[in-house]
Amino acid sequence: MNKYLVVSVHDITADSRTQMINDLLFSSLRSLDVKPLTIAFIPAYFNAEGKIKNPEKRFGDKLKRLVGEGSVIAMHGYTHEKRGLFEREFNPCSEESARNLLDLGEGIFEELGLAKPTTFVPPFWQTSNDALAVLAQRYETVPVKDGVFDFKNDLFHPALPVYDSPALFSGYALGNLVGNARTRINVKFNDNNPLVRIVLHAHDQYQLEDFGIVRKLVYRYQEEGRQLVTYPEAMRRLYQDQLAAVDNTQR
Ligand SMILES: [Zn+2]
Repeated sequence: MNKYLVVSVHDITADSRTQMINDLLFSSLRSLDVKPLTIAFIPAYFNAEGKIKNPEKRFGDKLKRLVGEGSVIAMHGYTHEKRGLFEREFNPCSEESARNLLDLGEGIFEELGLAKPTTFVPPFWQTSNDALAVLAQRYETVPVKDGVFDFKNDLFHPALPVYDSPALFSGYALGNLVGNARTRINVKFNDNNPLVRIVLHAHDQYQLEDFGIVRKLVYRYQEEGRQLVTYPEAMRRLYQDQLAAVDNTQR
């Protein structure tokens, strides 16, 4: 069975508050040769006065450099806004609002010279059913809470054996992950999940050594034959692998 590893960085924005991880990402992870990455990029951001801003071109150039190295820039909402205690940017959200937000976000991709995104990571892993219908039409890969919805191949979804590694990622923000990784680094490397995801969040506080831990995890997994690919690539391959398995059993 083929096994895959996805390293993704969520909540990347042009906001100066996330510059630390941005800089680390753009320098350290690259120099540590952890690639390709899946970047969940929030196109617009709020400045100190709470105004919605578009990133400057040179921020787009940084992202383009990652794309040049094979990484994928997924769209992660428009502003990723949390409206009140339970309201999220795409939940509740009508089809029309979803379309508006996606148009705005994609407009920024275009402004920055980035290709139209094919992967959409819902902010807070939440969408309304209406928004989900729009997302499913527009994007090839849309992971949502508690798993992965492969919309194009929806029939296969229930059988698609995709899990997060319980040792590495269980829905915690990444500070926890790194905290866990520190204490559990020897605990559970030989799990048989076809897909393991390591997720970093741009707003969490990292130290350089944390990136060293990520690199170690990646190397260890690669030594076991796990292939580091982008999220949409993992989805495509898992689907192909599954088709091949079905083929074999019918022979
Ligand atoms: Zn997020």
